[in-house]
Amino acid sequence: MYRSHTCGELRSSHINKEVTLSGWVQKTRDKGFVVWVDLRDRYGITQLVFDEERSDPEILEKARVLGREFVLQVKGTVIERSSKNSNIPTGEIEILVTKLKVLNESLIPPFTIEDKTDGGEDLRMKYRYLDIRRNPVKENLIFRSKVTIEVRNYLSKQGFIEVETPYLIKSTPEGARDFVVPSRMNEGQFYALPQSPQTFKQLLMVGGLDKYFHIVKCFRDEDLRADRQPEFTQIDCEMAFVEQDDVLNAFEGLTRHLLLEINGLETGEFPRLTYDDAMKRFGNDKPDIRFGMEFGELNEIAQHKDFNVFNSSELVVGIAVPGAASYTRKEIDQLINWIRRPQVGAKGMVYVKCNEDGSYKSSVDKFYNQEDLSKWAKHTGAKPGDLICILSGNIAETRTQLSALRMEMAERLGLRNPKEFAPLWVVDFPLLELDEETGNYHAMHHPFTSPKPGQLELLDTDPAAVRANAYDLVLNGNEIGGGSIRIHDKETQATMFRHLGFTPEEAKAQFGFLMDAFQYGAPPHGGIAFGLDRLVAILGGQETIRDFIAFPKNNSGRDVMIDAPAFIDDAQLKELNLKLDIPT
Ligand code: ASP
Repeated sequence: MYRSHTCGELRSSHINKEVTLSGWVQKTRDKGFVVWVDLRDRYGITQLVFDEERSDPEILEKARVLGREFVLQVKGTVIERSSKNSNIPTGEIEILVTKLKVLNESLIPPFTIEDKTDGGEDLRMKYRYLDIRRNPVKENLIFRSKVTIEVRNYLSKQGFIEVETPYLIKSTPEGARDFVVPSRMNEGQFYALPQSPQTFKQLLMVGGLDKYFHIVKCFRDEDLRADRQPEFTQIDCEMAFVEQDDVLNAFEGLTRHLLLEINGLETGEFPRLTYDDAMKRFGNDKPDIRFGMEFGELNEIAQHKDFNVFNSSELVVGIAVPGAASYTRKEIDQLINWIRRPQVGAKGMVYVKCNEDGSYKSSVDKFYNQEDLSKWAKHTGAKPGDLICILSGNIAETRTQLSALRMEMAERLGLRNPKEFAPLWVVDFPLLELDEETGNYHAMHHPFTSPKPGQLELLDTDPAAVRANAYDLVLNGNEIGGGSIRIHDKETQATMFRHLGFTPEEAKAQFGFLMDAFQYGAPPHGGIAFGLDRLVAILGGQETIRDFIAFPKNNSGRDVMIDAPAFIDDAQLKELNLKLDIPT
């Protein structure tokens, strides 16, 4: 038996007990006549003691040469510590060691295995197995496990069954490029790794399984924007005989359960906001509603004066930044430079200081009087002491820019408290999205999403106006889940493919299996998928999903520990009938 107890378990109630422990050497302190060793495992740290008076001299000598991260097995007696350490749960006791066995030695680790390590990100990724020994990473993985167990518990209690769907499939269009896998047995043909199990979960509904979930890996070959992973995990779900509200209620239940079980928080009903309202009020389809600074549209009250910048703009819109009227000229200039950066791309900003005495001072005093400015304050909800920041231009860009400014100001003012949770549903998304470059429409969610009842005909006349039975669950400014009610009849699905630019032949070649299935009694159905990595990070009060993934990839999609992706040898290529043609 390697151990009778873990390194986090022993207390003063165990004093005089003979125990066996196994673990890693966290650190040793050699005071000459006495040597202390901190022994660590997943559960904690226990102090071992060896001394001239009580220990076998041979064991004492062995203890002196132990290195960091050596793996030990020790036998000994639990004794009371003379100087107790109230910082750790085992701090009342130590083990007077009578037997010491080195189970394995260790090279000196390339960084310290401490909560605050000296190792940089790259080094820690290369030696991820050592990084996982550190508390912060270990705790995150344990936290993730707790969340997934709660998800499984909740959904199975609600009658969902977990079904595994295949990884070697044909392309599922979810807006990204596919990762492909060559097939040895089918010369020249490739599988695609699923961007999600979308079509399979729909087929499970045709199969009559009624309620499905799957904690599943998905693969998307995207240019990795910050904090995305080429393979990531979804809680993928589908239900039959449901309308939009049924799905929202079911998964509001799951989210509420997680907030309660994981974070100890009771949450009320989640607000439901239409996409159009979210864009109008926050300039964003995943608004962070933990703080105000809602948009105030000023077209009607700010146009038709002599200020041409506003007169020629499609949208004039502002936010009131709390307490920022005290900003100096220099601070405001810095803010203007911030929104002019290419990442935000605004041309300029008009501002109004709402003075404590009720007067206003603006950057456009030449064009607007106090009464005008007081109306702006009313529309943006500004109070004395606030700074109104106003942007103008075309609708979509201006909203995006002001949303970026809103988030930045909230960050600077400390309004994005990671311990506070503000979930909401955004519903009624547009069905289609115009690709500015190609002039073609593509599905905003995916091609299987159904239009709102009665809107199918609009596809021919005003495609951009068609709204979908599609919804996102948003938490603290992040989309943590998204789904839709699906099309479940062949004709509508064919119409949809036609509008997305597929010829009937292409649609049949790619999705014939789904349209065929729809002819055999497909029930109405809908579902959702949560991004588990992000959900876990947010519930854990953190930002980076990588910190919650055991073996993540870096920003170039590489696993630097195993060094993947990698070239394969000629024999393997030959077996697959592949030849490389890499431009030099
Ligand atoms: N398959 C979709 C996604 O991955 C989710 C869904 O529609 O259920 O975003």
